[in-house]
Amino acid sequence: MPKLCKAGQQLREQIDDDYPERDRTSDGWIGDTRHSARKSDHNPDKNGIVRALDIDADLKAHKEEAHSVVEKIRKCAKKGDKRIKYIIFDGRIASPILNWKWRKYKGINPHRHHFHISFTTLGDNDGKWFDLEGDKQNGRIEKDGGNVGENISRDGSSDISSGGLGSRRYCKCGSSISLA
Ligand SMILES: [Zn+2]
Repeated sequence: MPKLCKAGQQLREQIDDDYPERDRTSDGWIGDTRHSARKSDHNPDKNGIVRALDIDADLKAHKEEAHSVVEKIRKCAKKGDKRIKYIIFDGRIASPILNWKWRKYKGINPHRHHFHISFTTLGDNDGKWFDLEGDKQNGRIEKDGGNVGENISRDGSSDISSGGLGSRRYCKCGSSISLA
């Protein structure tokens, strides 16, 4: 049974915690049949691990908020979190090529409605906290640390409480990308 890598589950949980009301329509992780035909991180590997996550850009917050979240993830990767392989959003891609500097994304889907994060094999079983800039500064780790379970049940989303393992959300991004 396919499952999202631990790093992907953790990152999605952190975003869910910050934006519990966010629109999940364009969320996705496992590839559909179009993906299966080609190389994509949305396809499960031979052990069933999927190393890609799509997050709907509508966070039910200010429009610019999605850019801000993506920037935090990009900076986290640049700071040395090697679990993140590349990020695509709004016609741009950032990866270790050019040291996480944004460059134009030339894929079919420009990724305006969701952002895509691909993970390395280092994230398969490593679900530790992503050090997204600002999380520590406002003290939300300390403040919310003991209430994680409560937050999840209050949200009422089985997708979150099960870690997303039971539900297949097909990725809509059509991103297949080869990074040598
Ligand atoms: Zn994707």
